[in-house]
Amino acid sequence: MSNTLSRQDRRLLQKQEAKILASSLPMGTDPRPMATHVRHVFTLLKNYKSASPCSEAIAHVTSLFDRTAPPHKDIACRKGCSHCCTQMVVLTVPEAFYVAAQIKNNPKAKDAIIEAHRRTHDLDLMSRLEAKVFCALLEDKICSIYKARPLACHAFVSTNLEACLAAFTRNETASIPMPEQYVSIVHACRILLMAALRIAGLSSAVYEMNAALTVILSQENAEARWLAGEKIFAGLPVQSPPPPQFEQAIRQMAAFTAQSL
Ligand code: SF4
Repeated sequence: MSNTLSRQDRRLLQKQEAKILASSLPMGTDPRPMATHVRHVFTLLKNYKSASPCSEAIAHVTSLFDRTAPPHKDIACRKGCSHCCTQMVVLTVPEAFYVAAQIKNNPKAKDAIIEAHRRTHDLDLMSRLEAKVFCALLEDKICSIYKARPLACHAFVSTNLEACLAAFTRNETASIPMPEQYVSIVHACRILLMAALRIAGLSSAVYEMNAALTVILSQENAEARWLAGEKIFAGLPVQSPPPPQFEQAIRQMAAFTAQSL
């Protein structure tokens, strides 16, 4: 934030920002509300007094997604419906730390993640779907970390149960229809998260969830070390980089926000 602001202007700006941070994300063309969230996520990532800066940053981004995604009358997903939880989940490192924080006192879940990684690490997308290895975080067909699930899981909703059954239980070629708004909102949330990571000098690479969690669970102080710049994920394959348009949007948002830090 600029040092040239008077105390009164600064207070006014802080008030406006607090209002933006508590509201849903406007999906228009004005970059300023998004930049406010990027600044906030950057500040959370840099808060080394926190026990888990990554968890706080991701809790903000996922609750922003939840506030912004409107209830959709056609969504077919229901509690206990977990057909899609056999897919590969990819996530950023802070999301992985947020998930790891949910299971840190749950040895059963930790063992299940490591076992799932053993079974899936060498499968490509199709073989993995065919193998039908359910996510290790499911308990009685319900996501045990529902509120803290990765952005990919937040956004994966279907408006057609039959399409899900065809794709996930019968291995048929079927595309899953999703509300367009959900796709745009998750893109916006990913762009703001990745822009904040870039400004903070942190990697915005995405990894397969079980692989990233296995690294985190097998190391002491993994989050603090990653935040300090240690390349603890160096041995993991990075999943596909953002497409050019998405990459451009991340860069533009990072550059726009950096002007006001
Ligand atoms: S994290 Fe939760 S929602 Fe995502 S695949 Fe696993 S069980 Fe399903």
